[in-house]
Amino acid sequence: MNPIYLDNNATTQVDPAVLEAMLPFFTEMYGNPSSMHRFGGQVGKYLVAAREQVAASLGARPDEILFTACGTESDNTAIWSALQSQPEKKHIVTTRVEHPAVLNLVQHLEKRGYEATYLGVDAKGRLDLDELRDSLRKDTALVSVMYANNETGVIFPMEEIASIVKERGILLHTDAVQAVGKLPIDLGKLPVDFLALSGHKLHAPKGIGALYVRKGTPFRPFLRGGHQERGRRAGTENAASIVGLGKACELATVNMHEERTRVMALRDRLEQGLLAAIPDSMVNGDTASRLPNTASIAFKYVEGEAILLLMDGHGICASSGSACTSGSLEPSHVLRAMGVPFTYAHGSIRYSFSRFNTDAEVDLVLREMPPIISRLREMSPFREGQEPGMLKSGCGCS
Ligand SMILES: *Cc1c(COP(=O)(O)O)cnc(C)c1O
Repeated sequence: MNPIYLDNNATTQVDPAVLEAMLPFFTEMYGNPSSMHRFGGQVGKYLVAAREQVAASLGARPDEILFTACGTESDNTAIWSALQSQPEKKHIVTTRVEHPAVLNLVQHLEKRGYEATYLGVDAKGRLDLDELRDSLRKDTALVSVMYANNETGVIFPMEEIASIVKERGILLHTDAVQAVGKLPIDLGKLPVDFLALSGHKLHAPKGIGALYVRKGTPFRPFLRGGHQERGRRAGTENAASIVGLGKACELATVNMHEERTRVMALRDRLEQGLLAAIPDSMVNGDTASRLPNTASIAFKYVEGEAILLLMDGHGICASSGSACTSGSLEPSHVLRAMGVPFTYAHGSIRYSFSRFNTDAEVDLVLREMPPIISRLREMSPFREGQEPGMLKSGCGCS
């Protein structure tokens, strides 16, 4: 059975054209691009072309692109580099709604002698730029602010953020893993120093990422070893995946306008249909500044994991806004930072679309969701006026 896949912020299907571009590198083109012989050397030409494709899609120069193993490595590399190149600076500014690839590293660094400021967000998931301005210090080594949020799709005003941070001469990293391929980005105009992206969020395979490092930005490698990537990221190049990422970036750029419009129409139809059909439901996040493909919808009095289970029974894949930790279901750190009321946060579902979704799929989800929610509400231990503390036990996982 083909699933109805509405979990594209978790990962995406490899585009058939991406797969096709990659296949020769698993068969006849297996040479090592660092080899002296022509057989290896010819692979290098494809890596050059892929680097140009990735750079062009971002308005960057090819020598500003490093290939990495994933978005997480790109984020870690940027933060590590900024700290290593300015050993006298011990302060990091980030936000409370970052992906764990940034948040868990910064929390780890706090135990290792660094200080961190976590910027809050309002009920719609928006940053307060005055708070950002006030957080900057003489010893701030880096500001790391995501471009767009993976759970809510909220887009941060990166141009304004960059102008505030760069005015103070502080290094700026953005985790753009959810933005690249979905939004036009022109690094010729946007003065960030580091930008992280990940292949599997834009129809390239898992296990390939890239980090943009602005020319002139001091850089310290995260992986040391061979001289690959001009000494900035050691390890034999993942040639097939690099070629796939190049193709995926090119496809995203060429089709961006048309795809954005089509994907947004699907997302909006689902969102409006669900809000109209299901009482006590609401959108999480700022609908005025949001990725075209993401809808985070909260259904009051029901539990996200239970909704997902019933959806799964109909072949519908999505994500919930809860994470099961230590036997109790905590709403996600993003929804908590936004102060989404408990009875809503628990029943939050993220639907995330891609170019491969169809109108027929939206029709089916619109048909299946209302009975799923009413069924769960009939059994719900949450009732108006009741304290939700009882739900703390027995989420069925550990
Ligand atoms: C998926 C994701 C990452 C991590 O990328 P990987 O390639 O899976 O390591 C980082 N940041 C955001 C915003 C993401 O959505």
